Amino acid sequence: MNVLVLNAGSATLKFQVLVTDDHAIATDTDRALVRGQIERIGGESVVSVRRADGSTRTRTAPLRDLRAAVEWVVAFVTSEDSGTGLVSHADLHAVGHRVVHGGELFQDSVRITETVRHAIEGMIELAPLHNPHNLRGIEAARAVLGDSVPQVAVFDTAFHHSLPEHAYLYAIPYPLYRRHRVRRYGFHGTSHRSIAWRWRRLTGRTRDDVRIITLHLGNGCSACAIQGGQSIDTSMGFTPLEGLVMGTRSGDIDAAVLDYIASKEGLTLPQVELLLNQQSGLLGISGLTNDMRDLLAEAHEHEDRRARLAIEIFCYRVRKYIGAYLAVLGGADAIVFAGGIGENAPEIRARICEGLAWAGVTIDAAANDRLIGGREGRFSTETSALAAWVVPTDEELLIARDTYRVVAGIEPPN
Ligand code: ADP
Repeated sequence: MNVLVLNAGSATLKFQVLVTDDHAIATDTDRALVRGQIERIGGESVVSVRRADGSTRTRTAPLRDLRAAVEWVVAFVTSEDSGTGLVSHADLHAVGHRVVHGGELFQDSVRITETVRHAIEGMIELAPLHNPHNLRGIEAARAVLGDSVPQVAVFDTAFHHSLPEHAYLYAIPYPLYRRHRVRRYGFHGTSHRSIAWRWRRLTGRTRDDVRIITLHLGNGCSACAIQGGQSIDTSMGFTPLEGLVMGTRSGDIDAAVLDYIASKEGLTLPQVELLLNQQSGLLGISGLTNDMRDLLAEAHEHEDRRARLAIEIFCYRVRKYIGAYLAVLGGADAIVFAGGIGENAPEIRARICEGLAWAGVTIDAAANDRLIGGREGRFSTETSALAAWVVPTDEELLIARDTYRVVAGIEPPN
């Protein structure tokens, strides 16, 4: 089955066409025919594509809205120029959408019907920054491809539906949960599921006997404690703001700070929330950038004090969560790193693991340095009691597989 995977943001659209089916899933032979990303939708958009042969190209196109962007994608992936071999709309058999918030309702990926669309709409107040764009992506794909092409929603929250009550409830008056659904949902679920699945494949382990801590360290960052293939705790909460220090998000913070900052700085609460989401984290501490690459360069080349501080706080928070999740899991088999930072920054991985000798982590520095640019493997020593791995995340692959399974009526395993 040829699946078009779409991830629609406020002014961006990431896309990929993957070929998958039962045989491909069983043998790991799913193929990406083309992938790309459109930025600055609404003006002169920048489109970058990567064909299956590895060649890349960037161009601009005037795309006024998401619908125009989806039209462009469908025209492109069915053109000769894309190298996909697809020639018409009929060659796209299904569309898989990344949808951020599935609330408590969606515990699995699901075929998008009118009812499902309304339910996703109903979740907009829980994810005002994400769900509206995801919905627009769904509308656009339906308008461009028609009703006969099945569409599937794959939720960021779904993997965390297995969180036990004691992990997902905040210690606030219980009626607030009942009345307003205030609880921890967790995000990046497709990524944590992808990392865990791939790690099991690489190590030949089955779901049941595995306890691992997965770390998605990208622009957004989260940790997940996984036992028997299920998420039993995760660091993001009601929104993606909670937990680890991120590119521009503060992560954990005392809620009393919001009102204090608001009154001291003459801001409204929504403005403070924006500040915690968009001007905090690595950017906020360093005053320089949210990009870990640049921070490492500043720390090394210019010995910038605040760049160093940002890196230190970032690593400390991850280490703290690893400690917490070791307690949650009662020990673990492995810590698995992924995401732009997790996959490309050996120095950060080493610094996170530095204080973990007590837990049995010993790093092979040379192996750690080799694991960059999408390579996967172990970087702890043979004798390390707790293994440390890098396993690049592949959310699109999981979205494509889920889409296939849902359309084919096969139960999706985690
Ligand atoms: P997103 O969470 O938006 O998907 P990514 O997973 O692509 O983002 O991660 C982006 C982050 O990865 C950026 O903040 C960047 O600093 C970091 N990153 C990418 N390459 C490197 C590198 N070589 N060294 C350190 N950090 C890197």
